[in-house]
Amino acid sequence: MVRILLRFSEKIVEEPIVSQIVLELKVLINIITAHVNSKGGEVLAEVPDGSLDKIVKAFRKRGATVSLPKLIEVDTEKCVSCGACVALCPVEAITIDQDASIVFNKEKCVGSTCGVCVDACPGRAIKSVKQNNSEPMANKKH
Ligand code: SF4
Ligand code: SF4
Repeated sequence: MVRILLRFSEKIVEEPIVSQIVLELKVLINIITAHVNSKGGEVLAEVPDGSLDKIVKAFRKRGATVSLPKLIEVDTEKCVSCGACVALCPVEAITIDQDASIVFNKEKCVGSTCGVCVDACPGRAIKSVKQNNSEPMANKKH
């Protein structure tokens, strides 16, 4: 699966674009987070790798902006178990085990749309990294 970040302007935010695309392309679109109000919306979603291009095209055709958010990587070797990231993570994607080792749950993490743990880590054990398949989208216009 690939994570995509969708942005909808005030003009199109009330249109049922996600469901239209699911029906039209018969693809799976998992919504991870959605922040939507009358002024616009930002939706983080996961889509199958093989359908990425056609999904991106379909959203852009309808006026949405699509980008690939970065993911978070934790280097447990550098971690000093200070707990700063655990306390700050809004979705409890990082926990500390009884033996003081850090446990990172990639599925829960919302990646670079959050990123607070990256700045908070005193050991620079957490970094923001590009998704493997971000290249095909790099040259396409939004
Ligand atoms: S980027 Fe945000 S959601 Fe992900 S682990 Fe860090 S604090 Fe949690
Ligand atoms: S903030 Fe960094 S050093 Fe502290 S527990 Fe998290 S990963 Fe480890």
